[in-house]
Amino acid sequence: MPTESTRIVCQFSCGAASAVASRLALADYGGTHDVQIINAFIANEHEDNRRFLADCETWFGRPITVLRDTKYGADINEVFRRERYVKNQFGAPCTKLLKRRLLDAWKQPGDVMVFGYTAEEQDRLDTFRERNPDRAVIAPLIDRGLGKEDCKAMVERAGIKLPFMYRLGYDNANCIGCVKGGEGYFRAIREDFPEQFESLCHLQDLLGPGSYLHRNRITNERFSLRNLGDGPVRRNEKIPTCSFFCEIAEADIVASM
Ligand code: SF4
Repeated sequence: MPTESTRIVCQFSCGAASAVASRLALADYGGTHDVQIINAFIANEHEDNRRFLADCETWFGRPITVLRDTKYGADINEVFRRERYVKNQFGAPCTKLLKRRLLDAWKQPGDVMVFGYTAEEQDRLDTFRERNPDRAVIAPLIDRGLGKEDCKAMVERAGIKLPFMYRLGYDNANCIGCVKGGEGYFRAIREDFPEQFESLCHLQDLLGPGSYLHRNRITNERFSLRNLGDGPVRRNEKIPTCSFFCEIAEADIVASM
């Protein structure tokens, strides 16, 4: 249980789960603790994410602190171009350099982090706690058994329109063309956002095979997005929501293996 001097820090990722987790943290601790809600601006998210953030500020009754990277212009493509890779076994550099680095500079010792893990993600929380017994985290959605669909419904019941990406059928409000997506997801991005899809193709042309995200299931060879064949289009493909904290949790898990 956090002491009264502890800061409770919620990371708002412009997704429904982090919105509800933040609202619940305010309900649980807003009267007794310093609850901070932070967001990392990313230029590659849909512009409607900013509308959603403003609506949630009204719902929360307080402003959200927006952190913004300046080294890469908060742009994932700039990260990939300058770091010369798109993803490796430790994850994607965009989330590390555009989100985690900002949080590292902002956080204070003793902060308690609010994880937006949903009830479907109990195993991720268990793994994190097992491997980080000295790190204080709160998971209000799991504590209340709330799943992803519950969170969306709660946001709508609060009179807030879900982010445009959800309304198109996507599973989250990550960047348009999130590099954690699979083939079906990228077929959907190719249809809905051809310009952003072409930007990633162009990057892969520049960086070469090391930047390719997908493998041929038969030959096991990597192939570029430009060579993505026809097949199922999956807007609702499950992709982890991109947040500072989930990324920290996953990175810590990989580092300890
Ligand atoms: S949403 Fe995807 S592409 Fe955007 S920063 Fe996170 S991991 Fe990178």
